[in-house]
Amino acid sequence: MPIYNPKTFLLIASLLTGLMGCVLLLMPATSRRIPGIQYWAAGSLMAAMAGVLILLRDIAPVWLTFTVENTAVMLAFSFFMLGSAKHWGQTCHLKPWLALFVVAWCVQLYCTYGLDSLRGRYISVAGFVFATGLMHTQVFVREIRRRHVQRESRALGIYFTGFWVAFSTLIFGVRWLHAVALPQTGQGMLDTTLLQMLYISSYVFGIVMMNIGFQLLAAESIRGEFEKLAMTDALTGVHSRRAVVSAAHACFQRSQRHARSFALMMLDLDHFKSLNDQFGHQIGDQVLQAFCRRIETSLRREDVLGRLGGEEFVVLMPDKNAEQATQIANSLVNIQAAADAQLPSTTVSIGVSEWRPGDASLEDLLARADRALYAAKASGRNRAIMA
Ligand code: GH3
Ligand code: MG
Ligand code: MG
Repeated sequence: MPIYNPKTFLLIASLLTGLMGCVLLLMPATSRRIPGIQYWAAGSLMAAMAGVLILLRDIAPVWLTFTVENTAVMLAFSFFMLGSAKHWGQTCHLKPWLALFVVAWCVQLYCTYGLDSLRGRYISVAGFVFATGLMHTQVFVREIRRRHVQRESRALGIYFTGFWVAFSTLIFGVRWLHAVALPQTGQGMLDTTLLQMLYISSYVFGIVMMNIGFQLLAAESIRGEFEKLAMTDALTGVHSRRAVVSAAHACFQRSQRHARSFALMMLDLDHFKSLNDQFGHQIGDQVLQAFCRRIETSLRREDVLGRLGGEEFVVLMPDKNAEQATQIANSLVNIQAAADAQLPSTTVSIGVSEWRPGDASLEDLLARADRALYAAKASGRNRAIMA
């Protein structure tokens, strides 16, 4: 018995793909928040079904093992593509895709029942999957570019999956060109010629790897969701304490390494306790939210606003020195004093400090800002003081 048996290979791969489709489908609770996952799951199940139907050739009727199988392959790759587009919120042009689907589907039907042409079937089905694969590859390229431009983290999943999407597309492209250029001999998919075995193993391997990629992307998406939750303050939407402290450490390290200026301000709303007592906690919450929105409008893209807790906030200002930061802090004091009439008015006290070459750790910088804030409170509140 030869070591390589295309049927065994196809069977194992189909089972694997089907199982991975089920995992995507059953991903607990959070799965509804992973856009596109149902499409990936549907694609995996379609691909698994197509694999099993290929194995049933010579046993089951032609309509099942050819027509349904070809339809399943075409739908599988379409669902994969739609899943990725949905996952990253890209719009895809459904009309040309649908037109191509209808044409290819009719041609493969005619090639099975009218012409009885293996070559025609290869040209139509492989051609359609190749075109869909190109659209799918484009979805990945677009997303990678977007992340590059927006300097977002580039985790492994997108490269891994993108590679196998491109690989599968290439295999179908070669298969299609082969069918267009040369007459096809043999019985088809399960032929044991070297070339056909290469085709089928690459096809199967590509689908399995692509599915592992979808699992990776789904897992990364869940992790990203939790990371976002941990890094965002639930009430105000600004950076959480954890996120802002971590960003402050990064800024501090950068200043230590490259002697770049870095200023930091600590803000504390004045007499907030009595505001709560007077107007209620809910109004207090709204004041905190409005405060953050106002502050944000005065900051640069690279500044970081975070909530340390309660009514205490911190702003990180990379590449600014204490004088520049104090100027900005004074403008923040003023916009806060001139707050909108809808909510009770409050004022804010701010302590400003900057990185100094002698600082041993971030705590030195924070302690100076804290002392400056205390001084601002002690000298009458509603002001900014530089350490
Ligand atoms: P000071 O001018 O000295 O800063 O006085 P203060 O009253 O602002 O300071 P203190 O630290 O005594 O009180 C802070 C108050 O902030 C206590 C608490 O009721 C309120 N607070 C903390 N977190 C929240 C929150 O999430 N929502 C609301 N509404 N109030 C909060
Ligand atoms: Mg306060
Ligand atoms: Mg306080």
